[in-house]
This record gives sequence, structure tokens and C-alpha cells, in this order.
Amino acid sequence: MSAPAPGRINPRDDLRALEGYHSPQLDVSVRLNTNESPFPPPPGFVEQWVAALRAAPLNRYPDRAASRLRSALGRHLGQPAARVFCANGSNEVLQTLLLTYGGSGRRTVVFEPTYALHSHIARITGTEVVVGERGADFSIDADAALALVRATKPAIVFVCSPNNPTGNVEARETVTALVDAAPGLVVVDEAYGEFAPWSALELVDDDLPLVVVRTYSKVWSMAALRLGFAVAPPWVIGELEKVVLPYHLDVATQLAGELALELRREMDERVTALVAERERVTTALSGIGGITAYPSGANFVLVRVHGDGHTLWERLVEQGVLVRDFSRWPRLDDCLRITVGTRAENDALLTALRTCVQEVAA
Ligand code: PMP
Repeated sequence: MSAPAPGRINPRDDLRALEGYHSPQLDVSVRLNTNESPFPPPPGFVEQWVAALRAAPLNRYPDRAASRLRSALGRHLGQPAARVFCANGSNEVLQTLLLTYGGSGRRTVVFEPTYALHSHIARITGTEVVVGERGADFSIDADAALALVRATKPAIVFVCSPNNPTGNVEARETVTALVDAAPGLVVVDEAYGEFAPWSALELVDDDLPLVVVRTYSKVWSMAALRLGFAVAPPWVIGELEKVVLPYHLDVATQLAGELALELRREMDERVTALVAERERVTTALSGIGGITAYPSGANFVLVRVHGDGHTLWERLVEQGVLVRDFSRWPRLDDCLRITVGTRAENDALLTALRTCVQEVAA
């Protein structure tokens, strides 16, 4: 915590204790650290988007309800538009959920290790964070999770599936059991859902307190544009709309989100290719001595180094390869997370790893 500045207003005490979000953005040739798509949007997309933007009345506020985008997403997902809420990246969706359903006197349950922003935003919104543990394979033990939920009565239970940074996909039975037992909402963060063998989207129902959160930042090659969405019953969507700032989603983002959905075939092909690459990389990693690669249903793979993970991360950076360093995170000693990139990037990573791993192996 920083020292109070004499004579100056300080933020709330609970916020002064918080760490910010740290993920170094280094200038290296192979960037496999933030799980974006390694590909730019398909040819023609930018031209169509710019043409649509040119025709948009920029002197007017954007459609506050993002109606066209929500309808297009609804058609794309086979869901009514009334079940769709859009925001600036799924992070803003998560923030809006916590602003609406969390807050002082309320609790949220997260299962660690998991996506840090769930507990981070919870704390910013004054929501108490209750931590459940994952098993050795990083899955959530359904009985222990139900006991925790019954004991702590959280307003929101977060389930990240596939889980970032571990990559495992939660069992459908665990999600349904949590939805049945939870006194509040169950939010399934599916930022990597397209890469997984099943999706909680198929469980969303007007009578269930289930929210599924997705993003355009990964498969849709639009991390720079910031667009994410929730699929939830209309009684949740209506509350989120009250809380989010008016006109929060600009016209450029709304248009891009709508146009991108016309590229479904290309995107499906990219998912298939990235999943094949993920499996190739996982097999190759498993063949390198000195590390354990965990199975993944996402577009990244977590490895545990049998030695000093942080030093390996530094050696990889020296070789021009940036991965995400989790080596000093609780429960993730010596772990690194590797985004699946292009075939050439993945080969560069594998070559660099083979070169460096023996130096750090215990
Ligand atoms: N959820 C998870 C699990 C993530 O890994 C990320 C991105 N790192 C996000 C949400 C946020 O993505 P965005 O705000 O770009 O949609």
C-alpha cells in the first residue's frame, strides 16, 4: 500500500491496498502472452467497417441499446436479443455485473487460481471475495463448491470455463449443480468458450440465474476494439442496462461487432486451426523434459517448469518470445502460460524452450 500523501485526498483505504493489473507489454517478435488471436481480421473486414462508419452520423450519440448488434448476436447464438447485453470488452460486462449485483455487504465466490479480474473488480466494487480452491487438475470439486456456496450465500459465483490461466474446461454437471444451489447469479466466463467442447450458452434459460460472458477479443480478432457480451435472462439484462453508463458502446464498436458476425465461416475455420495447433503444441511441450503441460480447452496452454519458472520466462524473452509469467502466483509456482499463436510463432516458442529449459531445470 502506498503511504498517504500529506494534505491530499486519498482513495478509499480498501482500494489503496489493491495491486493494479500487471501484464508487461514488451516489444518482442513473438508475443504469446495475452491470448489474442494471432491473425488480423479477415480481408475486406476493415474496408467494410470503415465504409459503414463513414455512413454513420458521428454527430449523434450511438444507439444506446445497441439494438442491431444485439439482434445480430441473438441470431448468431440462437438466442433472443432480449437476452443479450453488450459492453466494452467482457471486462466491462464483468464490472457491470458486479456493480449491479455485488457491492458492500455482498459476497462473491471465485475458485482460485482463476482470472484475476473477477476478484479485482469485486474488491473495487466493495464486494467481499470468498475463495474456493481447485483440485490438482484445477477442476472445481462440485461437493466442496456447493458446500461453500451454501455456507457463504454469495450474490455471484464466478466459474471461468475454460479457466484462465489453467485451461481446463469445467464439467457441465458442476455448472448445473451450482446454478441449482446458488442463491444469487452464476456467471460463467467463457472468454475462451469457442475453443471448448461444450458451452454453458446452451443452459441459459429465462428461469435460471445463469449468465454466460463472452468476448470478441480472441476468436474474432478484435481485442483492439473492446467488445464483449453477456447472455442472460431478460430480468438480468434489464438491470445491467440501468447500471451501465448511457452511450457506453461507441458506434465504431457496434458496427464492427455486427459486421464481424458475417465472417462466421472464416472464424469457425480459425477455431478449428487453433485447436489443432493447441493439440500439436501440447504434444510437443509434453515431449520436452523439465516441464509439465496441462490439458487445455482454450487457445493457450499452462506449463509448470520443474525448476525456476521465472528464470525460464526471462530466458525466453531474451530469445524474443514473450509468454505470461505466473511463476510467482499463489498455487501456480513456476507456471508459465503460453498463448497458441501461428504455426511459425509456436515453432519459435518450442525451439526457444528446448534451448533454455535445461538451464533452469532443477
Ligand atoms: N475473461 C477472461 C477469462 C479473460 O481471460 C479475459 C481476457 N484476458 C477477459 C475476460 C477480458 O477480455 P476482454 O475484456 O478483452 O473481452
